[in-house]
Amino acid sequence: MSMSSDNQADWSFYEKSGLTPVINVSGTMTSLGASIAVSRAVEAVAGILPRFVFMHELQRMASDTIAEATGAEAGFITASASAGISLSVAATITGMDAGRAELLPRRPGEKCEAVVQLGHLCNYGAPVGQAAELAGARLVPFGQSTHVLDHQLQAVLGEATACGLYVVSHHVVGYGQMPLPRFAELCHAAGVPVIVDAASEYDLRRFLREGADLVIYSAHKFLGGPTAGIVAGRRDLVRAAYLQNLGIGRGMKVGKESIFGTIAALKAWAARDHDGIRRREAAALALWQKALAGLAGVRAEIVPDPTGNPLDRLRISVDSSAAGASAMAIGVALAGERPAVIVRDHEAELGYIQLDPCNLDAGHAEIVADRLRAVFESAAQGAVEEPDPDQLRNRSASGYLAWLEE
Ligand SMILES: *Cc1c(COP(=O)(O)O)cnc(C)c1O
Repeated sequence: MSMSSDNQADWSFYEKSGLTPVINVSGTMTSLGASIAVSRAVEAVAGILPRFVFMHELQRMASDTIAEATGAEAGFITASASAGISLSVAATITGMDAGRAELLPRRPGEKCEAVVQLGHLCNYGAPVGQAAELAGARLVPFGQSTHVLDHQLQAVLGEATACGLYVVSHHVVGYGQMPLPRFAELCHAAGVPVIVDAASEYDLRRFLREGADLVIYSAHKFLGGPTAGIVAGRRDLVRAAYLQNLGIGRGMKVGKESIFGTIAALKAWAARDHDGIRRREAAALALWQKALAGLAGVRAEIVPDPTGNPLDRLRISVDSSAAGASAMAIGVALAGERPAVIVRDHEAELGYIQLDPCNLDAGHAEIVADRLRAVFESAAQGAVEEPDPDQLRNRSASGYLAWLEE
């Protein structure tokens, strides 16, 4: 779908392709194709696809761009942030030993433990721990889910520790965790490098400043790049992670288009009108808030991003006895509209859904306002069905299980 300059959504792509039209107010979701790529990334992808290049040269160019954007010594592009985690962990196990890299995940050796606080072992579509284990690492969780003390980390750091893994995300437990600067200080005191999964974080410099030796970002989330992952950090570790492409990294191969497209997205990010985008997002939130005003059992408030990204969302709390349907049912009903309106519903069991304005194309905000009002009105008339909560909870797996069934 092209960004049209007028206020009309352009749905012709969906008509021509036969795919279901989608408006994404849930955030950058793999299940929806991540994000709307910025035009400079789209042009870069199209420009390089029909040409040959020397891939090491292209990755060297990526390293320079990543270094400039993050303050890191070096960097490279891989298939996804998840791949970046696997390759980074592998780097701390093998260093620059190509023979050992080729043997992974077999024979990782004694020094193969990845220490991680228990509350960070989240699922972003797949378990983060598995991304480390793919490299042959042995996971060593420490602390309790909501209670992490210094001595618990110190007790698991030792000769066998290859790395400390740290996850920054709304998916991790939100309180009682060890902050990154302290995590890095304790790991470094034991001579252990720190890998930070910051896949979804806007701040490209903060985690390296706070002690990360390697940091990983997604190219296809806030940056609006093609599907790819960015690894940035210490030159020796970046080189060792890049080396893994002759081993486990092969199945995580990144194409020339994703590397060149990510370089373009990083450059576009530096030049982006962040204030203008925030103003547009704020206008969408205000429009939706107004559309919901006066509805019985509905409270709409603007809430900040839980990990501190410069992004606000609209939280719609639903009192089901007054509104005629639960927050969960409203979310399901909006997804059943055409275009499908996909809301942020991972906390719907707590009685609210959220609307994320960071992936709106022209005309989307108005359609969402309209659909919101309509779905709440039909809920008030008792016309919105309650979904099965267990079915919803299992949804991330059931989509894969049911695919090509019948
Ligand atoms: C999205 C996400 C990932 C996975 O990123 P991909 O680039 O899609 O592999 C990993 N960690 C966190 C915290 C994420 O939010």
